[in-house]
Amino acid sequence: MPIYMSNTEERPSLFGTNGIRGIPNSDLSVEFSQDIGKAIGSYIKTGEIVIGKDTRISGDMILSAVSAGVMSTGTNVLGLGILPTPALQYFCKRNKKTGIVITASHNPPQFNGIKCIHSDGTEMPRQDEEAIEKVFYDRNFIVADWKSVGKYRTYLGAVDEYVSGVVSMIDSNRIRDKHFRVVVDTGNGAAFRSTPELLIRLGCSVTALNANPDGTFSARHSEPKPENLSSIISLMKTGDFTVGFAHDGDADRAVVLDEHGEFVDGDKTLALITKNVARAGDIVVTPISSSDAIEDVCDEAGAELIRTRVGAPIVSRMMIEKGARVGGEENGGIIYGPHQYCRDGAATVALFLDLMAKTNKTPSELIKSIPQYFLIKKSVELTKPWTEIRKELLGLLKHEKTDLLDGIKIIRDKGWVLIRPSGTEPIVRIYSQSKDSQIALKLGEEFMDMVRSVNSGK
Ligand code: MG
Repeated sequence: MPIYMSNTEERPSLFGTNGIRGIPNSDLSVEFSQDIGKAIGSYIKTGEIVIGKDTRISGDMILSAVSAGVMSTGTNVLGLGILPTPALQYFCKRNKKTGIVITASHNPPQFNGIKCIHSDGTEMPRQDEEAIEKVFYDRNFIVADWKSVGKYRTYLGAVDEYVSGVVSMIDSNRIRDKHFRVVVDTGNGAAFRSTPELLIRLGCSVTALNANPDGTFSARHSEPKPENLSSIISLMKTGDFTVGFAHDGDADRAVVLDEHGEFVDGDKTLALITKNVARAGDIVVTPISSSDAIEDVCDEAGAELIRTRVGAPIVSRMMIEKGARVGGEENGGIIYGPHQYCRDGAATVALFLDLMAKTNKTPSELIKSIPQYFLIKKSVELTKPWTEIRKELLGLLKHEKTDLLDGIKIIRDKGWVLIRPSGTEPIVRIYSQSKDSQIALKLGEEFMDMVRSVNSGK
């Protein structure tokens, strides 16, 4: 059912964990986008809202529709052009302005999305999104008279301000002295200009792959997983580079490749960066799904680790509430509090280079310095509602040690398993973790079998 047509029977929430997503001219129409713009403008009423986009082909169309909706309520729009989501968030934070990003992050090129940013630079809190949804469904839009409709102006300095902000948060001279040879794959996405520019300003010798804005993502899929990164991996196998980085489509994430072109798991990057920046008494935040490597690193540093439910906005909010120094997820989304409370791909790149410069170690040496955990992710398709499955599982697991913060986490002596439903698909994800790869595998299989049999009623 198209989102726009669904408002007569019920009022499903429009903003998912990462904003509204859909296929333009299909379930993400111009009319819908314009009404979302009207709803945002009617709710925010701050005089001016900033807007930006990633490189997707439909970006101009959706951005224009949302902007027209905002302006019809009498609110001005400030267009920042193509930029990484964290660059727009940085602008919002510094200028205390509400923002909108037209992006579908790592989704395939046919998708696009609308994501709202709070004036503190973090993802908009759920209660504000609900208020916007209420205005949308009630069609309670402000309609400005002809003299007071909003105006559109453009400002193209946000990317440079962002790059300068990232450079200023680390010891850039120490990095410059090292003359690192860096390869970065921006995947035709929003960081096509900003990350190469950042690396140049950090004195690196830069090889940039797919650093042209191409909304068809013709070079590779925009999710930075090993299977999508064959170009950068094979280039790095030549041995000519110190380190490699790859972004997702809107560059709020960055993954690391070591000097041999080996993909570094995101939870290891998070643990390493935490090890570099966390001091005794600091607070570190990560979801329940991250491996225990971060726990070991926090113990060693004397920092306190807080586990949250899964979702970057949840981690950000907890970090603000507790004044945390660093946090993030296992997928390459790292949040550095002193910079800004949101996932930031360029900040991840800079923090990793800072770590290399400070320790004088190669990426592979750094990885060896943290405890090795095996984190295996599997999924099972569901035909029954999760609430039923959960109830039955809890019955079967009554003698196990469990943590019910998000889904069901089963804690055993030599590892743990997390079973939780996906927020977007009818599947349940099963994460299993241990220091022993065989135990991690067996735990994953054991609980996959259990979920399957509960689901099929056998
Ligand atoms: Mg993203």
